Amino acid sequence: NSHNALNFSGGPGALPESVLAQVQASIIEVPETGLSILGISHRSAWFESIVRETENNIRTLLGLPENYHILFLQGGATQQFSMVPMNMLRGKRHAAEYLDTGYWSRKVITEAMREGPVRVVWSGENCGYRHLPREDELSFSADAPYIHYVSNETVEGLQFHRILGRDDVPRVCDMSSDFLSKPCEADKFSLIYAHAQKNIGPAGVTIVLVRDSVVQSAGQNLPAFLDYRRHVDAHSNFNTPPVFAIYVVLLVTRWLLNDIGGVENMARINRGKADLLYSILDGSDDFYRGWGEARDRSAMNVSFNLPNADLERAFFTEAKAAGFSGLEGHRAIGGVRASIYNALSLGAVETLADFMQDFRHRSG
Ligand code: PMP
Repeated sequence: NSHNALNFSGGPGALPESVLAQVQASIIEVPETGLSILGISHRSAWFESIVRETENNIRTLLGLPENYHILFLQGGATQQFSMVPMNMLRGKRHAAEYLDTGYWSRKVITEAMREGPVRVVWSGENCGYRHLPREDELSFSADAPYIHYVSNETVEGLQFHRILGRDDVPRVCDMSSDFLSKPCEADKFSLIYAHAQKNIGPAGVTIVLVRDSVVQSAGQNLPAFLDYRRHVDAHSNFNTPPVFAIYVVLLVTRWLLNDIGGVENMARINRGKADLLYSILDGSDDFYRGWGEARDRSAMNVSFNLPNADLERAFFTEAKAAGFSGLEGHRAIGGVRASIYNALSLGAVETLADFMQDFRHRSG
């Protein structure tokens, strides 16, 4: 009677059933400790080993070099909107360069502007955030302390299928909604952050990959918790970390390594899921109207509209009765959004595709 299998939520997203079963058991007792996961000291040797294994798994999955630190922080991706400019922009003369590609970019930029000079390199405002910039629309300055962009705009369903910026300026990227869904050439970035609650775990932990040189040159006199250096020095144990959330991320990384066979395989599976849904949109005679231009469409969030609000209401009602959940679009833009993160199976996407075909034929 589980609805997890058809949970298309934008986040927190569905997690693999095999992970949920282990999490369930761990609430009573983590096998190797005899203790509940909710009552284990963050200073225990066991928890240290959990942090180490989770780090190693992420390092292996992404081929991340040793000159990167991996941090497990609280505060969500939102805290990184501020923490990045606090550490990398405060007191700088030149502007950091930000791309404004959608709902989450705008939030990021608002916070960065509190900390120092910001230049918006490109904005999707004029196109209603329906597409991402082409390469010839962009020009980055060599003087910028860093450039920042959002790899996957979760609300609009727009995803960069290339890496932006220039090699002589640090790249910073919010990968909250596509981290570990595919390879990401992590070593091209100075800092990557991603909260767990889309592809890799529950809310409560945010993962930061940061190059050592960034940490060494970060701003001084920050509140300790907001200073990357402190978390690096304390090995993600500066204050009580989210033990439970980190443990679940560990289980998901084991699943990615052992059951899926790595991020290349995960990407292939995710691509297949997205292609199927987009083929339904493209073949629907404009009944299902994709939000974004085809070349920038996301493999994670398939955002679309129906011809009118009545049909959208009927779609949600029938989808709910058929066992689907989480299909309502983000409150900022409405419409439908099928989020197809790592744990959502191809079978579930096929079930949704069948439902969409059937709904269109009955309504057309
Ligand atoms: N960035 C992106 C791309 C997101 O999708 C979200 C939330 N869905 C956030 C940032 C904000 O994350 P949090 O709620 O963890 O602060």
